[in-house]
Amino acid sequence: MKTLPQQSKKHRIVIVGGGAGGLELATRLGNTLGKRQQAEIILVDTALTHIWKPLLHEVAAGTLNSYEDELNYFAHANQHHFEFFLGRLQDIDRAAKEIVLDVLRDEEGKEIAPERRIGYDTLVMAIGSTSNDFGTAGAKEHCIFLDSRPQADRFQREFLSMYLEAQANSLMHKHQNQLNIAIIGAGATGVELAAELHHAANEFSKYGLNSIDPQDVHISLIEAAPRILPALNERVSQRAQKELEDIGVKVLTHCRVHRIDANTVFCEGDLNIAATLKVWSAGIKAPDFLNHIAGLETNRINQLVVGPTLQTSLDEDIFAMGDCACYIPQGQERPVPPRAQVANQEAIFLAKALRNRIQGKALGSFVFKDKGSLVSLSQHSSVGSIFNNINVEGFMARLMYVSLYRFHQVALHGVFRTGLMMMKDMLSKGASPKLKMH
Ligand SMILES: Cc1cc2nc3c(=O)[nH]c(=O)nc-3n(C[C@H](O)[C@H](O)[C@H](O)COP(=O)(O)OP(=O)(O)OC[C@H]3O[C@@H](n4cnc5c(N)ncnc54)[C@H](O)[C@@H]3O)c2cc1C
Repeated sequence: MKTLPQQSKKHRIVIVGGGAGGLELATRLGNTLGKRQQAEIILVDTALTHIWKPLLHEVAAGTLNSYEDELNYFAHANQHHFEFFLGRLQDIDRAAKEIVLDVLRDEEGKEIAPERRIGYDTLVMAIGSTSNDFGTAGAKEHCIFLDSRPQADRFQREFLSMYLEAQANSLMHKHQNQLNIAIIGAGATGVELAAELHHAANEFSKYGLNSIDPQDVHISLIEAAPRILPALNERVSQRAQKELEDIGVKVLTHCRVHRIDANTVFCEGDLNIAATLKVWSAGIKAPDFLNHIAGLETNRINQLVVGPTLQTSLDEDIFAMGDCACYIPQGQERPVPPRAQVANQEAIFLAKALRNRIQGKALGSFVFKDKGSLVSLSQHSSVGSIFNNINVEGFMARLMYVSLYRFHQVALHGVFRTGLMMMKDMLSKGASPKLKMH
């Protein structure tokens, strides 16, 4: 086992997880403490590149080419005065103040690096969440989860393969093709994916893959709660349901899935839904290995319990943020929600709090300001509520939705480079296909 030696007496901040929260934090700390050589900033992630997770439903539908929107960690670290390490955290040695990274292997399984240890003075856990299938029989075996880019890419390949297969079949037998897709969970991810898949089905037929009529792509959106988007207000939920039904998505509420096999989703009350492609998007949990990792306090969905400073309840040198953290503000019953907005606000808070920590000042307390939620209904529309429950929809909501990703880019690249990226995106939109067909 190799241990990364401490280069200097400088305070070392190790951030594990370069997602919506961790990457913004590493960038902010690199631009300040790292640039002024006041601290050593290290980011660790399992992947070489970052893609903003709320874009994954577009990657899955093929309406966004993930390779065009990815950020290379090594290059970004170099530009922003921090160091990047490729590796998967497997444990924390609190006594030695070291994190333990698993053996690193290439795609063929060949060992690239042995198990490694990296010492820290301050550790920030930002490893996000995975889907929670609540132990539903057959979910793991038969559903695709949209937790990471490889999973979204897998869905896109399977979706495309079905079109290619249907085209080959229709050449040989000229029979009618149809495609059944089931999405389990009608939170923001499920709703956005349903709308995006409908849009992709229309695009496929424009590109000559018209053996499946867009009308014959049957998308079922299945939700156990009485309404879709249960975390948003009722008006937004009704509006989204109407828009989805108008484009032909079958919305099933009060429908609890208890089993899934290769071709069917079985709901309680004897309702069976035929589906070849199945996506699980109901609920989240922090990764299982986090459960009581190194004796730290975790909740029932493996999130690390933190206080208002985002320090874990049992170790003040370990912080947690984003989806893998559980913070219940004083006087409230529910934790702050697992959303990109929370991860972003926590990154802003921690960038300042960790600078204060190094200077021996008070950290302050994190206060989540809910600016509302927006849900994309593909290219044509968005719905949501902002600030104190002001409902927005249509073009304005779409504009606000798109700007959320641009704000993430501004946090990473600054205003000027984000402007250049927007121009590049506009130019390439006209020049390249609207659907990824490979
Ligand atoms: C399809 C989809 C659509 C969404 N849409 C929205 C939306 O519209 N609005 C919204 O607010 N939220 C949305 N969300 C939720 C949002 O993406 C998350 O709340 C947000 O990304 C959480 O940020 P994070 O930094 O905690 O984790 P993530 O962004 O998930 O980043 C976690 C990082 O940790 C790395 N990692 C994981 N395990 C390890 C390990 N063991 N060692 C090292 N690194 C590790 C991962 O590679 C990843 O880079 C959506 C989520 C999905 C899946």
